[in-house]
Amino acid sequence: MISVAGRPSADRRVLFRPDSRRLRSGFVPLLLLILTAGTSPVGGPPSGEAEDPPRVILFIADGTGIAHWTAGMLADPAMALWRFPVVGLVDTRNVEDRVTDSAASATAYATGVLTFNRSIGMGPDSVALETVMERAARRGMATGLVATSSIVHATPASFAAHVTDRGEYEEIAAQMAASPVNVLLGGGRAYFDPDLREDGENHLAPLGHDRRRVTSAAELESVASSNVTGLAGLFAESAMPAADARRSPTLAEMTTAALAVLDRDPDGFLLVVEASQIDWLAHDNQPFARVAAEVLDCDAAVKVALDYADRHPDALVILVADHETGGTSVLPDGDGWRLGYTSGGHTADLVPMFAAGAEAISFSGLRRVDEVGRIIAARVIPDGPAATD
Ligand SMILES: [Zn+2]
Repeated sequence: MISVAGRPSADRRVLFRPDSRRLRSGFVPLLLLILTAGTSPVGGPPSGEAEDPPRVILFIADGTGIAHWTAGMLADPAMALWRFPVVGLVDTRNVEDRVTDSAASATAYATGVLTFNRSIGMGPDSVALETVMERAARRGMATGLVATSSIVHATPASFAAHVTDRGEYEEIAAQMAASPVNVLLGGGRAYFDPDLREDGENHLAPLGHDRRRVTSAAELESVASSNVTGLAGLFAESAMPAADARRSPTLAEMTTAALAVLDRDPDGFLLVVEASQIDWLAHDNQPFARVAAEVLDCDAAVKVALDYADRHPDALVILVADHETGGTSVLPDGDGWRLGYTSGGHTADLVPMFAAGAEAISFSGLRRVDEVGRIIAARVIPDGPAATD
């Protein structure tokens, strides 16, 4: 484990919560314990231990490595990032390359299986794999996806769709509209709207079957605080604007609305939030201020989740990246800072992983991306992979 040490701060009050009573060793003994616990006659937890539904919030900050986080921290020394008591590192390789794209990496987080570039929810043999989000939905848990890109973009798509090529946006949209995911918030209206789809099919209608559709930030807030159990908001035809031009809703506002809806499910929930655009700025080798603004937009959403976890000690918040982009470094520049880039693409760099809340310690150490996916699944579906009906 790498701890965030050396900084005197009141935020460190969350370090190693005393109520985190579950096993704090590595993944294998943890899984064995969970599988053993799951064999009790009623399938519940051991007697004497309170039964709490899984409440898991996974953030994927696309393309975000050490330097991007550092840029955010230099722009705002009070980042919520400091509040994570547990830090680890992720090896983001895929099945064919040490340098991955977002699709293969997100699929590994979603399924626990290493796959090939451009694969959405498909294993290396191009057979669809049930994702942790689909398993959670099948178990009666609430689920949600939030992104600042189009919602059919590789990272969110990998949790709720299955295609061999991430560019099949219209097919991904059709699958996501028909999926059991309760909350879908981001951009990408063009891929659902019959007037904008190339094939003219209407996938806005199924999107609204079990979800209340919203079109503005104000509507998002009021509907989320009503008693709905599903929510769909596509606030741009394709990607939402960049953070420094993104008026509303912000990623934090979408995360707040998603949590308000998902929190109502007594069976627990899985929410996946992608900060989509840090990657794009790094591809374009954009300057410090723009990257920092996008990182801080992500951090504001992370703060919403950490505040939620403070109120619900059994919630788990995880923050990872799918890969590093830009080969980025933070360098002194007069009285300020600049970013240096060594690439316009993705790199093989390890990326940091942060966790807070119940069983956060499972997300320490150096882990391969597929292993992290399996640890997430063990937390979301605590009694293991046996459910088949
Ligand atoms: Zn990229």
